[in-house]
Amino acid sequence: NKRSGVEAMKITVVGTGYVGLVSGVCYAELGHSVICVDKDPLKVATLQNGEIPIYEPGLQELSVRNAELGRLRFTSSLGDSVKGADLIVIAVGTPPLPGGQANLAYIELAAQEIADAMEGRPVVAIKSTVPVGTNEKVRELIRERTDCPFDSVSLPEFLREGSAVSDTMHPDRIVIGTDSPRAEALLRELHAGLGCAFVVTDIRSAEMIKYASNAFLATKISFINEIANICEKVGADVTRVAEGMGRDKRIGASFLKAGIGYGGSCFPKDTQALIQIAGHVDYEFKLLRSVVEVNQDQRFNVIRKLETIFGGELSGRTVAVWGLAFKPDTDDVREAPAQEIIGELLARGVEVRAYDPIAMDNFRSQFGSGDGSVVWCGSALEAAAGSDAVCLLTEWSEFGETDLQRLRAVVREPVLIDGRNAFDEAALQGTDFIYYSVGRPSLA
Ligand code: NAD
Repeated sequence: NKRSGVEAMKITVVGTGYVGLVSGVCYAELGHSVICVDKDPLKVATLQNGEIPIYEPGLQELSVRNAELGRLRFTSSLGDSVKGADLIVIAVGTPPLPGGQANLAYIELAAQEIADAMEGRPVVAIKSTVPVGTNEKVRELIRERTDCPFDSVSLPEFLREGSAVSDTMHPDRIVIGTDSPRAEALLRELHAGLGCAFVVTDIRSAEMIKYASNAFLATKISFINEIANICEKVGADVTRVAEGMGRDKRIGASFLKAGIGYGGSCFPKDTQALIQIAGHVDYEFKLLRSVVEVNQDQRFNVIRKLETIFGGELSGRTVAVWGLAFKPDTDDVREAPAQEIIGELLARGVEVRAYDPIAMDNFRSQFGSGDGSVVWCGSALEAAAGSDAVCLLTEWSEFGETDLQRLRAVVREPVLIDGRNAFDEAALQGTDFIYYSVGRPSLA
């Protein structure tokens, strides 16, 4: 039961979504004995069958392998799974409430169920992104229900969907927020094999690190998007500007890709939540408010560009939408810009032909497949067939590699709006495509 000299731990992960499942599978890969619990029986049945309910490269192989080795189990019975655990990791969702605050109902429910079942002296870590002070509240909530001793840890997660396994196995740092040396030691041991830096802090600072990190990354994106908007007007090329900036180590090259803005289940909700957290202590986070506003507006540049090309009137036009996921290599469509862009196109009387390599089903179920005005297509070229414009909203690599001659042969009008700067401009020169990207000179 030992691997790399580290004693195998019994770990229960509560909530088997993007974060819980990846963490659980990776803990098993590190040699620990892991039970992943989820309330959703369908999800659990899928996992027990060796399938993965989400699209995440490399995850299925690892999951199946560790299940076969007897180190990884899936269950919907939280009570049984918690008994005897050395470490209980809460990774349930914290979706936004209508006002922007994080909804802590799932966290509280999970904490109650854990309190009613736990025994021994487990470490209880919250991996979900939660407002500052939540770990302490959860600690109180558990203490009210049980005399069983336990140690609390804030263990924020920084994985990116699409590269979640690699991010978890090769993290930049592990943040451990705790006031318990025993818990700190256990979590250092758990992650020892990863060879990464540890940042050990008090609980509140760890909770804040997560929000501050996401808010900072969102700020970089909105910043470069505003630079891109200015580049379009002054005739500069934002990709060269970003390269020139990014080579400065103080700035760094990542998150300087101009486009139609961020989406997904984290940045939109975590920025809103941090604005709320600040508001609760009478602090107006002006910078972050602007970041959110810029991001919200940026996606509509696609519509504005279409209007410029078609003289302001879009009604009756047919537009192909390439990409529905909020970013490539994931099937996650939560807060994807495509939702609002398609909604706006439909409201203007456009016929939308949509395609995504992986996220079609998720998008249809969220967007409402009953809406007859969207034609769901089986390939990028099928979506483009007969269209007056193709709008690229997610930079799946297959889109940038499109054979432009074949594309030209199927479209009605050669118009390409590239919301992610996925196309090589040089390849478009010499064609008759009208090409608008973000922050780069357009070809008309
Ligand atoms: P998710 O919605 O994919 O998964 C949450 C899972 O928890 C669901 O499967 C749900 O059925 C389950 N669940 C809810 N209550 C439960 C309970 N009482 N017992 C058992 N299972 C329960 O969410 P996610 O994307 O994995 O995010 C989880 C948390 O991690 C959030 O706070 C999120 O902000 C944070 N986070 C997410 C990412 C990401 O890229 N998705 C990255 C870093 C942090």
